[in-house]
Amino acid sequence: MFENLSERLERSFKLLKGQGKITEINVAETLKDVRRALLDADVNYKVAKQFTDTVKAKALGQNVLNAIQPGQLMVKIVHDELATLMGGDTAQVNLSGNPTVILMSGLQGSGKTTMSGKLAKKLKSEKSRRPLLVAGDVYRPAAIEQLKVLGQQIDVPVYTEEGNKNPVEIAENAIRYAKTNHYDLVIVDTAGRLAVDEQMMQEIAAIKKAVKPNETLFVVDSMTGQDAVNTAREFNERLDFDGVVLTKLDGDTRGGAALSIRTVVDKPIKFVGTGEKLDALDYFHPARMADRILGMGDIVSLVEKAQQQFDEKQARELQRKIAKNQFNFNDFLAQIEQIKKMGNLKDLASMIPGVGKAIKDVDIDDNAFKGIESIIKSMTAAERANPDIINASRRQRIAKGSGNSLQDVNRLLKQFEETRKLMRQANAIKSNPMKMMNAM
Ligand code: GDP
Repeated sequence: MFENLSERLERSFKLLKGQGKITEINVAETLKDVRRALLDADVNYKVAKQFTDTVKAKALGQNVLNAIQPGQLMVKIVHDELATLMGGDTAQVNLSGNPTVILMSGLQGSGKTTMSGKLAKKLKSEKSRRPLLVAGDVYRPAAIEQLKVLGQQIDVPVYTEEGNKNPVEIAENAIRYAKTNHYDLVIVDTAGRLAVDEQMMQEIAAIKKAVKPNETLFVVDSMTGQDAVNTAREFNERLDFDGVVLTKLDGDTRGGAALSIRTVVDKPIKFVGTGEKLDALDYFHPARMADRILGMGDIVSLVEKAQQQFDEKQARELQRKIAKNQFNFNDFLAQIEQIKKMGNLKDLASMIPGVGKAIKDVDIDDNAFKGIESIIKSMTAAERANPDIINASRRQRIAKGSGNSLQDVNRLLKQFEETRKLMRQANAIKSNPMKMMNAM
């Protein structure tokens, strides 16, 4: 899914790799590339432009530059904007009403009938609903037959009226039938055409008016790109539907429909179809879809965690201390505390792309800092603030007090001194405690 777009975006972000700062120039270059990638993925031109404009404004307005690298920051901004573009929060389907009536609309071949079956199956098993499928396509006997076959597979009855050519009547009768027979979910499949035509639109609008569905869904084949978006616009003008269902997302769809539809019709994508089988149906989660498009979902969470923990003021203070060689064991301890607050070490490491798989079977001790902390806590306030006074006899006392060997204490002090030197020398480490820990 969206593989091309993912690769292209990844390449765009590489432009920022190795750059120390986000500037007007490197942001512009990166975003030009991002926009091209979106257009090649068949994203609507206006949507792509609006998207990169927003990302640009956000990137240049960021002031957390000390904490994370520009490339990563850009990935996060693009991620969040992609999610917003696709609707932000996960949209819920309206299941009120008894029975709940869901009206399915869309062109022929979009996957409407298959989706009717998938929905019935999902809501039956997940929400313990008693669904009734309604065959509303009065023109194609094959369509009615197809729905009957689907119904049998999932053990859901299909309401049909042979000989009746009036889909509005059929839908009304079906709902009455559902009420008397205690079906609490009615899914009305309707006739589609190969292209938008007036008769089809009038018909489905009439069904909607008559049965007042709780949810009108527009089903569209995501492989059709900008055509999908245009069809969505036309259906929405006539039907004012409640949500979009994107089908065939399992194919090599480029992503244009998924990324443009929300902005163009201002209706949420509620479900996606990911295969021909009847359980190939998912709720649509914009943020997770953005994760997948970027192939970097885990890094996004890592950056978020880092942003939560490292505040800018603290970071600057730390930097000042390092520059003046005043970095001491109190600061060191505070840094360890912050890293610990970010969560389980193994989980953290797994968020780095590629690392998760590699350390799957490796044991990373959650108490990795315990020894270090016990040593530091056995130091007096004066020693912590001024590590230079820790002579041989003090070392022995600290080892004894903390229950560590003299060797352990010596090692920590040596590492600390080396770190301090490194920090001072490079000063590039600035406020990034992750880097400090790497140095250790
Ligand atoms: P309708 O004319 O809109 O009712 O469309 P159908 O439900 O008959 O689907 C048209 C074709 O698309 C069928 O061959 C389905 O098996 C296939 N199809 C439907 N949904 C999906 C999907 O999510 N993924 C894939 N790969 N095929 C699908």
